[in-house]
Amino acid sequence: MPELPEVETVVNAIKKSLKSMTINRFIIMNNKLRWKIDSDISNSVKDQEINFIYRRGKHIIFRLDDGYLLIHLGMTGIIKFIDSLGSKDIGKHDHYEIQFKDNKILRYNDIRKFGSIHWTQDIDNHFLIKNLGPEPLSEEFNGVFLKNKCRKRNVAIKNLIMNQNIVVGVGNIYACESLHLSSIRPEKKCKYITLKQCNDLAQAIKYVLKKSIKSGGTTLKDFKTLDGTPGYFKQKLMIYDCKICKCGAKVKNIKLGGRSSFYCNICQK
Ligand SMILES: [Zn+2]
Repeated sequence: MPELPEVETVVNAIKKSLKSMTINRFIIMNNKLRWKIDSDISNSVKDQEINFIYRRGKHIIFRLDDGYLLIHLGMTGIIKFIDSLGSKDIGKHDHYEIQFKDNKILRYNDIRKFGSIHWTQDIDNHFLIKNLGPEPLSEEFNGVFLKNKCRKRNVAIKNLIMNQNIVVGVGNIYACESLHLSSIRPEKKCKYITLKQCNDLAQAIKYVLKKSIKSGGTTLKDFKTLDGTPGYFKQKLMIYDCKICKCGAKVKNIKLGGRSSFYCNICQK
């Protein structure tokens, strides 16, 4: 599943690939995604210019002259660019494409159909955006913020940091790695986490995500870069899917919220 670092990489790649930002046509090939693609999008975006491209959580957002296009890659979404002079063959899992004035085509492919695309004029109140927590790399997300969220909460800290309404973009691998780095057990109840631990954890989350963005995300088999080459460089993971911790102890793996949670009995308290 593309995580925050992968989505950041895709956003940067789109910025590099697009020269003309004026949309000629929006074409729907197969509207069956997580939410059915609204057929009105074609009229809403026609002849509009993309002014800015950015990421919010795991959403890719195109700010247009009027309104916003909101793209989510789901589990297996791939964005690729096609030169209109080249092959125009539509693939089995192609869902929509954006044709630009300079004949470049952005095409969306999604085998498992968990992705989505919406057009909206009010991005801040869109149902996919309005309840999202702050960005993990923003100043707003810090130890004090985390401590306030932890207060009186009886849930496991790992489930809290993976809750998109608390903070966006901390996927399972990054949650495991951050908790290991800050020496906190994944199942530890939030109400017992100290301010110092919250500071350490917030810093660890930022560190792990930044490192991953630098290397383009972790390797994920369903994910391809814009030019179609599979995967990214795998970053070195310290605890996730590891057998032995750096201290020499055997790595434990428990289920939390249905997700594999790797940790070290010795290093994490
Ligand atoms: Zn250890």
